[in-house]
Amino acid sequence: MAALQPVRGTQDLLPETALRHRRVIDAARALALLYGYAEMATPIFEFTEVFARPIGEATDIVQKEMYTFTDRGGDQITLRPENTAGVVRAVISGGLVHEAPLKFFYSGPMFRYERPQKGRFRQFHQIGIELLGVASPQGDIEVIALGNRILDALGLEGRTELELNTLGDPESRLRYRDALVSYFSARHHELSEDSRRRLERNPLRILDSKDEGDKRLSAEAPLFTDYLNAASRDFFARVCEGLGRLGIAYRLNPRLVRGLDYYTHTAFEFVSGELGAQGTVLGGGRYDGLVELMGGPAMPGVGWAAGIERLASLIAEPPPPPRPIAIVPVGATAEAAALTISEALRDHGFAVDLGYSGNLTRRMRRANRLNARAAVIIGEDEMARGTVILRDLDSGAQSEAPMEPDLRELRARLAALLR
Ligand code: ATP
Ligand code: MG
Repeated sequence: MAALQPVRGTQDLLPETALRHRRVIDAARALALLYGYAEMATPIFEFTEVFARPIGEATDIVQKEMYTFTDRGGDQITLRPENTAGVVRAVISGGLVHEAPLKFFYSGPMFRYERPQKGRFRQFHQIGIELLGVASPQGDIEVIALGNRILDALGLEGRTELELNTLGDPESRLRYRDALVSYFSARHHELSEDSRRRLERNPLRILDSKDEGDKRLSAEAPLFTDYLNAASRDFFARVCEGLGRLGIAYRLNPRLVRGLDYYTHTAFEFVSGELGAQGTVLGGGRYDGLVELMGGPAMPGVGWAAGIERLASLIAEPPPPPRPIAIVPVGATAEAAALTISEALRDHGFAVDLGYSGNLTRRMRRANRLNARAAVIIGEDEMARGTVILRDLDSGAQSEAPMEPDLRELRARLAALLR
């Protein structure tokens, strides 16, 4: 059998990386709770229709990135490419629509069949928040402020730039759409094949194309800002004003359109200059029509998602886990005692590593490799005397401690070493 390899675009989270992910998720969750966003989770797979319509038939995700399969019962299933549609499905099927405003935080794996490269995987992880039932700019401001605060907490203050745009309300969007269609139709022959298809189905998507020729055309395309109606302009002005009041710096980017079809009004991304081509660490916006599109009542929404891999690669080395105490039995009788002592120390919150086998030298080598702070060596002679040996692995100093039923002295001395 050929050596087993991970599937292209997937990766193992070995302990060091897992620790970085954990740090990102913990910081985000703690701050989300501070803003009143409760953690929730949806299944990693759903019926395909949960994603196909909301995300949009003309998007890259639906056209070529979804992991879709027929399960054994004949159902069309898709691994979630993002979590907003799943959250909205949960709100509708769980009958939560009358409890607005709803505020959720989530984290977990997402799946997209993309070309794997730096910062782009086929299984990746996101943290995200959704605020449902709030139509006012206050909602947009709050979710951006929360995202900003999470980035600050991760040590990224001043290392990302917030880009901001508005896609207006549906009326403005229709007017803009017309303008785009006439602009791009006149340059039809210069468009990529994908974008020619987009021109018919969703011309806004052309602005999000990664094709260099499309990008050049898009740079000269009409600007959304010129087609906003008064209500949309006013909405956006209030978002900008709120961010200004909170001291959150932003750059207006009239070319910013988001990857999914369901966005209205505010669209935003936090972009890092330290990641190369895949610089967007967090992206989101308002999606007022989504709940209704998915069969629920009219219910506005705004939220964002951030890539954990990208954030994890930017943060400082997380603090190492607490140093363990190594328990080192020497001889068969000591093995049994070692087990009891290990559990007793764990009862009191000590991180304990029990060497499983090998002679004293081998077990001490393992203790050093684990960066243990101290070793408790249990030998036959000491056991006969009712003591154990306590070795400080930093200084090498060694002394005996009584093996009392409650291990009181040993615990006190270990605690002193760990301080
Ligand atoms: P891009 O333009 O880079 O394809 P997107 O618009 O598809 O991004 P979103 O759907 O907004 O991305 O996802 C939010 C965040 O999730 C992104 O800003 C990024 O940090 C992360 N992300 C998206 N796709 C991937 C991926 N394939 N691998 C790793 N992280 C990803
Ligand atoms: Mg993408």
